[in-house]
Amino acid sequence: MRSLPYFPLLLLVWVLSACSLGSQAASVPLVITEIIQPTTQPTLVPTATRQLQNIPTLTFTPDTRNVECLTETENQHLVEAVVNYPIQSVIVQQEIKWFNRGDRAISQIVLNTKPNERPGVFALNEVSLRFGTPSYELAGQRLTITLTEPIEVGCSVTITLNYTLNIPSLEDGEINAYQGYLGFGNRQLNLGRWLVSLAARQSDQWITHENTFIGEHDIDDLADYDVTLTLQNAPANIRVAAPGEPIEVSPERWRFKLGSAREFSVSLSPSYILTAAQSQSGTMVELYSFEDARITDGSSTIDSAAFALDVATRSLDRYTELFGPYPYSRMVIVQSDFPDGMEFSGLVFVGGEYFRSFKGPQSYLMLITVHEIAHQWWYQQIGNDQAITPWLDEALATYSEYLFIESQFPELTQWWWDFRINTYSPQGFVDSSVYEFSSRREYINAVYLRGVRMLGDLRAVLGDATFLNWLRRYAHEATGKISSPTFFWSLLTPEEYTSTDAIRQRYLRNPQIIVIAPGS
Ligand SMILES: [Zn+2]
Repeated sequence: MRSLPYFPLLLLVWVLSACSLGSQAASVPLVITEIIQPTTQPTLVPTATRQLQNIPTLTFTPDTRNVECLTETENQHLVEAVVNYPIQSVIVQQEIKWFNRGDRAISQIVLNTKPNERPGVFALNEVSLRFGTPSYELAGQRLTITLTEPIEVGCSVTITLNYTLNIPSLEDGEINAYQGYLGFGNRQLNLGRWLVSLAARQSDQWITHENTFIGEHDIDDLADYDVTLTLQNAPANIRVAAPGEPIEVSPERWRFKLGSAREFSVSLSPSYILTAAQSQSGTMVELYSFEDARITDGSSTIDSAAFALDVATRSLDRYTELFGPYPYSRMVIVQSDFPDGMEFSGLVFVGGEYFRSFKGPQSYLMLITVHEIAHQWWYQQIGNDQAITPWLDEALATYSEYLFIESQFPELTQWWWDFRINTYSPQGFVDSSVYEFSSRREYINAVYLRGVRMLGDLRAVLGDATFLNWLRRYAHEATGKISSPTFFWSLLTPEEYTSTDAIRQRYLRNPQIIVIAPGS
């Protein structure tokens, strides 16, 4: 087993924190190091009449099982990563604890190793259990592990992986520029979707979706992350942009705890300028931007970073008001050197070109910033299958742009419909998967833009109060879960659902989602 610096200490903390949750580490070995014989015999004075008790004989048998059945928490990832900044390599030791919440014992677990989809990026060094070594097979991103014993319902297993990542260049023509969230440039190293994740399990199947250059392909249950980064050979002024509760162990060593997350992402740069603001609900919003976000035009300077921070903070409050609370104490926004934007749990990227071209509120900087913030509800809290039902997060995140503008920039509502939607004359079924398109534009037109038109039509038919209450109830009921279109539509009453028949016929390939019994 590759031994990483400080890992034993972290493991100790892991065990202690597990104990504090009420678990008992059944296999902690008891070691008697010394037996001390008393040198004098004290005189015993009876204090009460006592019955003699039989003393049970204690026998210690070493526990070599890999299964624990004493606690019930979320899946857990304990990560120790060493980032060699100048050569963009990362050595990772990752402990993954999976709980069987299904209805039958499981002997095979599937992990998704997304970085392995790019040649030369991912190298798996070792897979181990607490006791013994499982057999495993890595094919594309799907890592299938055959356990040494079945995991009964309500029990868990911990798998340890050792692997190395060689982060690809953002400028490398081989990689899709839109997936630069795992990439490095001349001033930024991004670690998005860098860790191995547990495949979601649905209908007795482990789900691994093929990666393509269109859309996202992930479906993640919530898990708790405890990630320690050790930076090697990094510039002295490097900044670490990462979500969760941060602890600066030393200037080269950072630990982050992020609970109930879909994944855990990081961005590093020696050039970041950190600005921050607090939302009305108390969340600290941090923006990591570059100097080129301050645009000099003649004698005046436009601070696009300040604008992005302001709308991010206001949108967080607006969405909290509409959909329910944001789950973390911090929200991190990163100016990216790859195009467009990308959402992660507690951290989002917004494309640098939107900062540099900023001229005022009528801009993609505002739209993409608040769009990515909206994904903290429609993705992070309310999960969905991003490959098969992408409209569930993307149409709702795009419509959330409108809900923000309606409240904060009401004079721009018609501009938004024209600039964001109508100019593209969008076509296509809203309920398409990411695999049905040959271009990114076609995908966005069908899923995002016609999705928004569908939501606008639904609002017109149902009325403002019923429509907004529907979204709020959906957010509340589906929080923490992986949702589905069936669940979304099921929150309407039979009468409301029937009143939307024509709209579903217009926008959806499969408009009959729910069968309503006659007379109901
Ligand atoms: Zn989106």
